[in-house]
Amino acid sequence: MNIKELKNIKNEALNQNIPIIMDDTLEVIRQILLPKHPNRILEIGTAVGYSAICFTEFLEPHGLIDTIEREEERVNQAKENIRRAEVEDRINLLFGDAVEILPTLENEYDVVFIDAAKSKYPFFLNQALRLLADDGIIIADNVLYKGYVMSDYNKHKQRTAVRNLREFIKEIQENPLLETQILEVGDGLAISKIKAQEC
Ligand code: SAH
Ligand code: MG
Repeated sequence: MNIKELKNIKNEALNQNIPIIMDDTLEVIRQILLPKHPNRILEIGTAVGYSAICFTEFLEPHGLIDTIEREEERVNQAKENIRRAEVEDRINLLFGDAVEILPTLENEYDVVFIDAAKSKYPFFLNQALRLLADDGIIIADNVLYKGYVMSDYNKHKQRTAVRNLREFIKEIQENPLLETQILEVGDGLAISKIKAQEC
């Protein structure tokens, strides 16, 4: 990984108002993933590749990241950034709508990171559960959406997103297979681990 280029990529993304992962959120994810050393990570929502490039640091030596992005301009920028950061051998960029791509995936993932359209989080959750390894982790960013999700404010223009985020949170909290924590870091981070099976 080329750290100097990573800093440039981060500053360029911030200057272009691309909603990249926040520093404190990344730090929490680092604490969880470094000891886990995942072999395969699936990211939904690449933007310009910043978080995927950061996550390569947490992979085991031959680990890989699959990451999905639907906007062509961002995919092109991500490709360029991944090359600049010298991690092209660790990241597989998938261009298209995750709603269409996810059902075609068959790999098993140790970690699924959800960071795309908020109104699709319940769908992404179902796909993540289908694709996750037995000891896998689902991490979802922006689940508190500037406080709208936990307030009784319903008139916001993004109310479909808010409704679907509330449904997502209910599902991760009530699913008996999952052990979930919701942290007020960044814009809200949900961490759901598959519970160890009792025998
Ligand atoms: N993970 C990135 C930030 C992602 S921003 C980082 O931290 O660096 C969210 C991205 O998800 C946007 O670029 C948006 O185009 C993309 N996106 C939103 N909905 C999507 C969908 N249904 N399929 C694929 N990409 C999607
Ligand atoms: Mg985010």
